[in-house]
Amino acid sequence: MSTVPVWQDFDQDLYVGATVVRPGQDPYARNKFNQVECDKLRMDRGVPDTRHDHCRHKQWKTELPASSVVITFHNEARSALLRTVVSVLKKSPPHLVKEIILVDDYSDNPEDGALLGKIEKIRVLRNDRREGLMRSRVRGADAATASVLTFLDSHCECNEHWLEPLLERVAEDKTRVVSPIIDVINMDNFQYVGASADLKGGFDWNLVFKWDYMTLEQRRARQGNPTAPIKTPMIAGGLFVMDKDYFELLGKYDMMMDVWGGENLEISFRVWQCGGSLEIIPCSRVGHVFRKQHPYTFPGGSGTVFASIQSRMEMKKRLGCQPFKWYLENVYPELRVPDHQDIAFGALQQGGNCLDTLGHFADGVVGVYECHNAGGNQEWALTKDKSVKHMDLCLTVVDRTAGSQIKLQGCRENDSRQKWEQIESNSKLRHVGSNLCLDSHSARTGGLTVEVCSPNLNQQWKFTLNLQL
Ligand code: UDP
Ligand code: MN
Repeated sequence: MSTVPVWQDFDQDLYVGATVVRPGQDPYARNKFNQVECDKLRMDRGVPDTRHDHCRHKQWKTELPASSVVITFHNEARSALLRTVVSVLKKSPPHLVKEIILVDDYSDNPEDGALLGKIEKIRVLRNDRREGLMRSRVRGADAATASVLTFLDSHCECNEHWLEPLLERVAEDKTRVVSPIIDVINMDNFQYVGASADLKGGFDWNLVFKWDYMTLEQRRARQGNPTAPIKTPMIAGGLFVMDKDYFELLGKYDMMMDVWGGENLEISFRVWQCGGSLEIIPCSRVGHVFRKQHPYTFPGGSGTVFASIQSRMEMKKRLGCQPFKWYLENVYPELRVPDHQDIAFGALQQGGNCLDTLGHFADGVVGVYECHNAGGNQEWALTKDKSVKHMDLCLTVVDRTAGSQIKLQGCRENDSRQKWEQIESNSKLRHVGSNLCLDSHSARTGGLTVEVCSPNLNQQWKFTLNLQL
């Protein structure tokens, strides 16, 4: 009487052993994370329970809809992929995981996925050409037989009771799209580290996802109820739970998106604008290996991953979705939006440092501080009337001689001391009246100055976003 093998019976040494890093090989070469460290860990290693204390005593409903877990991968390290699926099977109530659908996005070795197909509940689909993560996820979703979809990356580890709080929210209201707090699996040593519960997902105007720290007010409001769902303008990427019918109703993913990137912004806008909502559920924690580079190629080049959106626009019209302006005003009011007066916008970067008011007001000096991507004191605009502005304060050249300090002063129309322009392919800021350049060499001793323009790195400044290229 043979049954389908449970994960405990899977021979991980045989499976992982076939693809280990050989002596002399770079442990980062294949995955852009340390595969040697990754391979050392057992498939069911313990990780710290990073949840808030209040979560530990919560009772989750047991009568919840089962979910199909969809994991797409392209050339994933076997040990990482195996740990992902084992953590799903080990950390979920069995009746809530109907199946795990692995979509092998044309990995070099078909056995990476095929061998896992022997484990209980795992179904493996293999693309016969590279499709990219969006079409792969849609393929997995289409094959799913449960009413709720759970998407995960192929290098995750699920924590205690991660699934129940997510399913509970979706079961109550299928227009909720929910994600866990994403803990960090260190890409160098594979330590599992709890992430802050005070973050929301957002983006900047290069359309790059970022984490926004909650305001003091928002954090205070949460103190009394740390387990309450967090409404978020954006999901981080590939870790979320969504009702299958709702996923289909809203148009799944754009099937003309290739490889990687942008789909999390696009689905986030679409969910909010078309009547749904996005939430982070603090009692659900899943670890993810964050890395700095892609380990895979972008066939056709990384600039060619987006195509015409005509049919998507028509679909949104059919669904009666709100315009993007509505999203900005109602879902992400914290986001500063460049106005039609701005020609450059965002942080003014010099390497890893950014121009910073240092909290000073009128007549204060300005300096530089490590870029934090959170706007605030590092948010500047260069306007059409040539001022460099932070709120209603402008960079002012009080004394037009080299070496003199820049001051913050209230912006005044037609004051030549406040007129600046970008020169040399937007790489420097020159004061129009004196032809001197903004310079950081005395940032630490007194504050920024203007100096005779030179190729010195102290004079290189780059806005996050240039609206006139
Ligand atoms: N992926 C895929 N096909 C691709 C690119 C990525 O199936 O062409 C998978 C990848 O293996 C991972 C998920 O999509 O499971 C998300 O990609 P990645 O982890 O590289 O994105 P990141 O988390 O760095 O944003
Ligand atoms: Mn990932």
